[in-house]
Amino acid sequence: MSYDVIVVGAGNAALCAALSAREDGSKVLVLERGPEHKRGGNSYFTDGAIRFAYHSLSDIRELMPELSDNEADQIVMPEYSTSDYYNDLMRVTGEKSTPQLASHLVNESYRTISWMKSHGVEFELNYSNQSFEKEGKYHFWGGLPVKTKNIGMGLMKTLFNRANELGVDIWYQSRAVELKTEEDRITGVVVEQNNEKIEVPATSVILACGSFEANKQMRAEQIGEEWEAAIVRGSEFNTGDGLDMALAIGAEKHGEWSGCHSIGTDYNAPKVGDFNKPGDIFKKHSYPLSIMLNKEGSRFVDEGADFRNYTYAKYGREILKQPGHAAYQIYDEQVRPMLRKEYNLEEATFYKADTLEELVDQLPVNKEAFLQTIHEYNAAVQEGYYNPTVKDGKGTTGLTPPKSNWALKIEQGPFYAFPVTCGITFAFGGLHVNRKGEVLNQSAEPISGLFAAGEMIGGIFYGNYPGGSGLMSGAVFGKTAGSSATRYVRNQQSSNISS
Ligand SMILES: Cc1cc2nc3c(=O)[nH]c(=O)nc-3n(C[C@H](O)[C@H](O)[C@H](O)COP(=O)(O)OP(=O)(O)OC[C@H]3O[C@@H](n4cnc5c(N)ncnc54)[C@H](O)[C@@H]3O)c2cc1C
Repeated sequence: MSYDVIVVGAGNAALCAALSAREDGSKVLVLERGPEHKRGGNSYFTDGAIRFAYHSLSDIRELMPELSDNEADQIVMPEYSTSDYYNDLMRVTGEKSTPQLASHLVNESYRTISWMKSHGVEFELNYSNQSFEKEGKYHFWGGLPVKTKNIGMGLMKTLFNRANELGVDIWYQSRAVELKTEEDRITGVVVEQNNEKIEVPATSVILACGSFEANKQMRAEQIGEEWEAAIVRGSEFNTGDGLDMALAIGAEKHGEWSGCHSIGTDYNAPKVGDFNKPGDIFKKHSYPLSIMLNKEGSRFVDEGADFRNYTYAKYGREILKQPGHAAYQIYDEQVRPMLRKEYNLEEATFYKADTLEELVDQLPVNKEAFLQTIHEYNAAVQEGYYNPTVKDGKGTTGLTPPKSNWALKIEQGPFYAFPVTCGITFAFGGLHVNRKGEVLNQSAEPISGLFAAGEMIGGIFYGNYPGGSGLMSGAVFGKTAGSSATRYVRNQQSSNISS
């Protein structure tokens, strides 16, 4: 059997590509490496936060018509324009994001999210993480007010249902291992099923099978030796197959191959994402209210340098550099009730004791140095007004590193130690594509019939990324790749007829 379009992968980018190609009339096959109960890739594990540009609340209400006038009256929703989004992307990537790709992502974001809605994806407001209440109104901030209903699980369920409805074929436990070409043109994919290889002919292929975050060896080679030890927050299947296959037929690398997105996560979280426990439940993001010590009893970052949004991605990396790739977030009873909800989940692991000495006795650390650091920190805490909702400037003096905000003495038992390590979210290394989603070769020419979307695309994110852009990038470039592939297939068909 031959297909117009084969999509490799079955995450958000892949299914958006499949829907887009199918609605344009292509015959589409989706290949998923995992079994059906482990489908959906990293997209399945997300919180569903999705960033797009909008003018006002009425743009957002178009996506969630059930939002009542009464509820809308309680909401203050500042505009998040395409330039705001573009500027955020440039700022957090140190102006490195490829302008052509960044502007495509930003400019197509609203059109794409409306298109997702037209395929049945449901959205809701993210009150708990992205708004604060003031004088009876909910003020949204940060350009990320919306998430998909029932987070990543809900998103993926809807996309799979829709793909089935539209007649997209989906093969599970089908790992793409090689791209076939003739005269520099894609002709099919070699697929591994039950240890056997079969060749499936196709006019075009869209690679949407993630980067190499779940591949220990590639992490060590590309990002740095210590990355072998990182926990994989999402799918175990994103081991760089798509990148290898494309590079083998002359595609060009693009973007920051030595970079990735990572965070501080529970030390005892599963080593790769557990499909029975999706949702971002292992992250530990209240560290600005803590002090973090490594096993030698030293602090190593300014925990209160800034709000979590601006430090969490780089502090994961710092934890990885510590002995045993571990650190302990220390809290006392004063701040325990303020910690984010993931600290209260039954999956959260922690130590607790009535005194600091008893707490530290339970930890596999240099106990003397650990206690001394806590005492030195307590002695360095300055008086001042403590307020976790603003950068309160209540810091330490004479400490290296300092704690610049939210410094409270750790003095009221019981005391808590939450062990953390580094979890990799996704690698930034990818392929060079243009704004049509065509994969480029080393002469910057499109490889005929080859397209890519999602994490596979390099050059959009460097060092960091504005939260919620991973899903949006997958959707925008997935939709684009689907239509580009269909257009390519039609051109091929008409040139075959005329020749
Ligand atoms: C815990 C966690 C929380 C996150 N939260 C958010 C969030 O709230 N908002 C946001 O925007 N981003 C978030 N992200 C990032 C986001 O998940 C990714 O940026 C995005 O989902 C990537 O989509 P994708 O379709 O490119 O890849 P994926 O969704 O990972 O899909 C890749 C697919 O390819 C398949 N595959 C791999 N190799 C092969 C092969 N050889 N053959 C066939 N199939 C193959 C995989 O099984 C998988 O189905 C989060 C990530 C994690 C891990």
